[in-house]
Amino acid sequence: MCIFCKIVNKEIPNNTVHENEYFLAFHDLYPKAPVHILIIPKQHVDCFQEASAEMMGELTIFIQEVAAKVGIDKTGYRLITNNGQDGGQEVFHLHFHLLGGGQLTWDHSHEDAHNFI
Ligand code: 5GP
Ligand code: ZN
Repeated sequence: MCIFCKIVNKEIPNNTVHENEYFLAFHDLYPKAPVHILIIPKQHVDCFQEASAEMMGELTIFIQEVAAKVGIDKTGYRLITNNGQDGGQEVFHLHFHLLGGGQLTWDHSHEDAHNFI
């Protein structure tokens, strides 16, 4: 069983932010922003590439609820999913990183066509 399935099953503790029958939001163990929340489906899906449109529709509403609940819906946030090896995915249970709570950096320069972020 994968690490996030163990979190869903409460075999590994987590700091829950928001939850319903289908999705769970909890604080990332190693936050990279003042607010860094992971949002996952309770049912195991490997990665975004395997996600269904139906699930993503419901997940959109859930993520918007999480952003409002932690008070970053108006100030702004970044939503990221790392997909597969080149995307830098480490945990192969679909998750979205919700980052905010302060001004996030982003490299807007386009001088180097080989800039891989
Ligand atoms: P990925 O690199 O797969 O997109 O992101 C995995 C994320 O899971 C990382 O940001 C990492 O800090 C987080 N993480 C890994 N193990 C745990 C854990 O046991 N609990 C929590 N809350 N976060 C975890
Ligand atoms: Zn899993």
